[in-house]
Amino acid sequence: AAWVAAHGGTGDRLVVLAGPTAVGKGTVAAEIRANHPDVLLSVSATTRPPRPGEVEGESYFFVDDAEFDRMVAAGELLEWATVHNAYRYGTPRGPVEEAIAAGHSVLLEIDIQGARSVRRSWPDATLVFLLPPSWDELVRRLVGRGTESPAEQQRRLETAKTELAAVDEFDHQVVNRDVAEAAQKVVDLTRPRRG
Ligand code: 5GP
Repeated sequence: AAWVAAHGGTGDRLVVLAGPTAVGKGTVAAEIRANHPDVLLSVSATTRPPRPGEVEGESYFFVDDAEFDRMVAAGELLEWATVHNAYRYGTPRGPVEEAIAAGHSVLLEIDIQGARSVRRSWPDATLVFLLPPSWDELVRRLVGRGTESPAEQQRRLETAKTELAAVDEFDHQVVNRDVAEAAQKVVDLTRPRRG
């Protein structure tokens, strides 16, 4: 809150991109990383092991449970959550505060619990909810990517249903029909506020 008081209103923005499972947050974030390099995307810490092709310090900071515990205890995370009852994910506070203080906007791609906790700790943040074009399309994407077992897919669809109900808590909604178009809308929301 002190940071907001000191720097709020100068055009700097903390923008949170969240949305239900399988809506394509990661894809939209990857599109922004590739085609809008001027947008600062926060790199999260996670206890999840790296997937093939993921790069330490770019995709995530991959840490073990003890290191994550230490970061939490030291207050180094702006928010953190356990996602899909599995691994912990959190936003390192230092880089975000430094970027905002320097007058930049920062984008966080995090889950809905994380968005809620940012709302509490950083009331000035802009919360963006990424929506699927339809429920059927969400189901199609989740099943189509084939990265989860049928049981896990079922569990995530249940989660998605409750997560969709959070849409009203957000400042803006963006429909992920076309990735480039959705990315552009999110980027526009990171641009400095006028007036
Ligand atoms: P994945 O393991 O597929 O990279 O990410 C799984 C989920 O974790 C996604 O919904 C993503 O938005 C969320 N996530 C990634 N980083 C963070 C973070 O720093 N905080 C929170 N709360 N969620 C995160």
